[in-house]
Amino acid sequence: MSQSNLHIGIVGAGPSGCYVADAIGRKLPGAFIDIFDRLPTPFGLVRGGVAPDHQGTKNIARQFERTLGKDSVRFLGNIAIGRDISYEELKAAYDVLIITIGALEDRRLGIPGENLDAVYGSGQFVAWYNGIPDGRDLDPKLDGKSVAIIGNGNVALDIARLLGKTADELASSDLCAHARAVFEAACIEDIWLVGRRGPLEASFTTAELAEFGELSRVATLVDPVQLPQALPDGLSEEQKKLGEKNLEVLHGYAARGEQRERPVRIHFLFHAAPVAIRGETRAQELVLDHTRVEPGVAITGGKTFTIPADTVISAIGYRSTPFPGLPFDTARGIVANTQGRVEPGVYAAGWCKRGPQGVVPANRADALAVADLILADLAGHEPGRKPGGALIDTLLAERDARPVDFAGWQKINAAEVAAGQGRPREKLTRLEDLLAAATG
Ligand SMILES: Cc1cc2nc3c(=O)[nH]c(=O)nc-3n(C[C@H](O)[C@H](O)[C@H](O)COP(=O)(O)OP(=O)(O)OC[C@H]3O[C@@H](n4cnc5c(N)ncnc54)[C@H](O)[C@@H]3O)c2cc1C
Repeated sequence: MSQSNLHIGIVGAGPSGCYVADAIGRKLPGAFIDIFDRLPTPFGLVRGGVAPDHQGTKNIARQFERTLGKDSVRFLGNIAIGRDISYEELKAAYDVLIITIGALEDRRLGIPGENLDAVYGSGQFVAWYNGIPDGRDLDPKLDGKSVAIIGNGNVALDIARLLGKTADELASSDLCAHARAVFEAACIEDIWLVGRRGPLEASFTTAELAEFGELSRVATLVDPVQLPQALPDGLSEEQKKLGEKNLEVLHGYAARGEQRERPVRIHFLFHAAPVAIRGETRAQELVLDHTRVEPGVAITGGKTFTIPADTVISAIGYRSTPFPGLPFDTARGIVANTQGRVEPGVYAAGWCKRGPQGVVPANRADALAVADLILADLAGHEPGRKPGGALIDTLLAERDARPVDFAGWQKINAAEVAAGQGRPREKLTRLEDLLAAATG
């Protein structure tokens, strides 16, 4: 068998899976590629994570669509590995397997009160507002005046910005109807953005930070005392560049005291480590401890204070969710791998390989690297003759699974866009509706 008609299986049709399919298609022309996703819809967090008011970012899906539409590529949506097909069956079917399952599970805060009502992980919360079927029924409580968001990355800023926007400001987004209804009924006055460390250690980017300045009903409040006047020594060029730009925006907010009267206040609270969430049955307040930062690490001093928090959302990172048999690094929450190699014939790429860091295009380099690894490992070896998708199709038919192919996704897409009525789309958020649209 020549390397050109290899059978390749990819688990996860997010950005990494799509970039891998593209890279393999270029480097191993003639390979047959099957790309699975547990959802009937492709594109992973581009559909289910990226903020609904950042439509420009979602345009990358058009590029991924071209990859999935190629003759050598089959999309098998609504097929979860570990539920419909096992890891062992995949290994029996494909000459090469690439795991690109992302990192979808929220990291836990590990503080008392975390299990109270009205406390959510950002993964859960974002899946809810982005209409992922199994997150659709979260029905989060946004019925109080204050929301605390823990974390200083772009996801925390996304959530604060969406909560701060008016219905008009959300009109050109694809925020799902069920979430729009909850946002519109909410009467939030204070949103706290809580960071354990200082503004220079925050991982949010300047463009996202600057967006708060454009929100019509929001006062963005920063205590100037929390902002360093100058950058400390020892920062890398990249840290210096980001730090300077972020500080400039934050100093700008600190100087805009006249906005205090606006109906919604977003408070940036740095150097505050969460130690407990208090409340009778649901969250009422968040207990924080002042910190100081010593080379990059937040040290608590035992001087606690509280802020009101009727809802708490933690945005402190994610872990991958393994399926049975998949080698897994439990401590790091990623697929166990050595620079992308998992075990003979099996590779990992993207967030499940290196952890939940990096924007969509950052996964391209990983995909190219994994394609090179595969080429290097195959060099001089005659790969075993595996049956490819034919075996999988037989198993799926025996199990009454309902795979959604690329044409099915195109039908879902068309139905959602048609329902948008001025919005980019109105997403179908129930599994049965998605499957009906895919066959309709
Ligand atoms: C809330 C949020 C907002 C973000 N916003 C931006 C942004 O604005 N701009 C930007 O550039 N980046 C953004 N990112 C980062 C970006 O989404 C990631 O870099 C990228 O999605 C990682 O790609 P991935 O393919 O590795 O993982 P994912 O996108 O998570 O894709 C993994 C895929 O695997 C599938 N899968 C998982 N388990 C199984 C299984 N057992 N069987 C079959 N399929 C499975 C999932 O359904 C999913 O489709 C954001 C991330 C988050 C969390």
